[in-house]
Amino acid sequence: MCRGLTRRLDSVTMLPLFVLSMLHKITAARGYVYGRTATHWRWYSGEVAMKPCIKCGQTKPIKMFYKHPEMGDGHLNKCIECCKDDANEHRAANLEKVREYERIRGRTPRRKEKVRNYKRTARLKHPERFREYQKTARLKHPEKYKANQAVGNAIRSGRLVRGQCEVCGTTEHVHGHHDDYSKPLDVRWLCIEHHCDVHRKMTA
Ligand SMILES: [Zn+2]
Ligand SMILES: [Zn+2]
Ligand SMILES: [Zn+2]
Repeated sequence: MCRGLTRRLDSVTMLPLFVLSMLHKITAARGYVYGRTATHWRWYSGEVAMKPCIKCGQTKPIKMFYKHPEMGDGHLNKCIECCKDDANEHRAANLEKVREYERIRGRTPRRKEKVRNYKRTARLKHPERFREYQKTARLKHPEKYKANQAVGNAIRSGRLVRGQCEVCGTTEHVHGHHDDYSKPLDVRWLCIEHHCDVHRKMTA
């Protein structure tokens, strides 16, 4: 009975999703382009709309332009390729500033969540790559690996208790940091953020 109920619920919740996805396929294939406001679709003559890029001058399908809600046709006038080129040039010319900006941006909760999700899904998607990476890391820095193993074992057996971050006091995602890998149980507790700070200072 329970199984029948969940099956019925499945078909009830999946149906609108299915209809929506079919609608999206049909409209996208015929070249509807999302317009100025969120409730407004434009029709581009039944074909995929094309437009020229103001930078490279090539005429390209509208899909080759980033979406932008404030533009007349809902897309930038510079193609994706040119945007990427510009971004790379800007990055190369202002490397220091860009790095500083990325460092600050990386600390916002939204960004942290994104990175965490990305890492989680990347690991699930490519477990073999992750194992490979772990293996090379272990071979490259055996002392690091052994020290971290020792900390994990000590926590599991109760010889060591995971503490709070010594900088901000949080108890979430706290790592044991080693100033000296040859003393595996001599650790300082640091949250991810402050742990990264410490290592950045060490390499700087
Ligand atoms: Zn272009
Ligand atoms: Zn902290
Ligand atoms: Zn560390």
